[in-house]
Amino acid sequence: MKLTNEENKKIDLMKKDLISLRHHLHKNPELAMEEKNTSDLIAKKLKGLGIEVHRNIGKTGLVGVLKSGNGNKAIALRADMDALPILEETNLEYQSVNKGVMHACGHDGHMAMLFGAAQYLAKNKNFNGTVYFIFQPAEESGGGAEAMIRDGLFTKYKIDSVYGLHVSSVLESGYFSIHDGPVHASSSNFDIKIIGKDTHGAHPERGIDSILVASEIVMSLQTIVSRRISTLDTAVVSVTKFHGGTAYNILPKDVTLNGTVRTHKNEVRDKIKTEMEKIIRGICQGYGANYDFKYKHGDRAVVNTKKESLQAISVAEKISGKEKVLTEPRPIMGSEDFGFYLEKKPGCYAHLGNGPEKGVNHNSKFDFNDEILMTGTKYWIQLAQDLLE
Ligand SMILES: [Zn+2]
Ligand SMILES: [Zn+2]
Repeated sequence: MKLTNEENKKIDLMKKDLISLRHHLHKNPELAMEEKNTSDLIAKKLKGLGIEVHRNIGKTGLVGVLKSGNGNKAIALRADMDALPILEETNLEYQSVNKGVMHACGHDGHMAMLFGAAQYLAKNKNFNGTVYFIFQPAEESGGGAEAMIRDGLFTKYKIDSVYGLHVSSVLESGYFSIHDGPVHASSSNFDIKIIGKDTHGAHPERGIDSILVASEIVMSLQTIVSRRISTLDTAVVSVTKFHGGTAYNILPKDVTLNGTVRTHKNEVRDKIKTEMEKIIRGICQGYGANYDFKYKHGDRAVVNTKKESLQAISVAEKISGKEKVLTEPRPIMGSEDFGFYLEKKPGCYAHLGNGPEKGVNHNSKFDFNDEILMTGTKYWIQLAQDLLE
């Protein structure tokens, strides 16, 4: 059922308070895994609504539990709490007082929207089942979702499906982008050490030139995406650091290369690792060099499940109207740790337009758009009511 006019009016009454909560959070940002005051405040406010609160799940993370009726279905709604190490330059009256730390990705708004939904649902209880409110630490540096799962998010609580909502600076204000399949890429990092033999720069034949070997590896790694995986799969291999050498006239013994791999499928991610090692081994062998290769999986790809995506689309259409809900796939190569949840449970990660006029995420002039605060809050409320009828 679509929210009635009366319900909409009731929800809109919270707007002023939610904006001031959002501004308070914006003014007092905290970095990943240090969200202590943020977490204290949210916990206190949720408890004030009569919501059961469980702390220290993933260090500063918390879970609010709200039951209504006798239904045994349960959904989890997630907001992230961390800010970024950026010196804010917005000159807003609620500009960060924590110098060098800034909510430049909209997480202040994510928290306010989820809290708004919690407030309304706790007061009105017009759903049947359980809603878990996840306030997660450390989305930006990664690790937050994983830490909450490690501390029992899916074993302590019976959660059927999980939902995320993030603001997007490329979408017009109030628009949604929701589709099934890949949304964000996985992120893996690699470290390669090429071990040659140092020698005088005038006598390369007396050593093994690690700079030359590393250069050839950098070039060849680019053939993985173009020649070793399907053109229908998405992937990026980027060498982002190249370090070696100390003098004009010495060929160094070692060179280290570091970089990142992004894909939308786990099997592609794993194939790239295998292909990288083949290239590194082959080139090193050809020159008589040795190597050390490490490949670390970070964020998993965010891949929405079909049924949950269709439900989320229908919810968004009720809130913003069909014309403002974009449903064509538009996967992003950036990563997001929501993929750890979707590895365990079905669910849907949606984007809500912040409007390009509010700046680009992760920029010192970015601000969450207060005009969409109620849109996101209503999305969460409608989602809970539709899924837990
Ligand atoms: Zn971000
Ligand atoms: Zn973010």
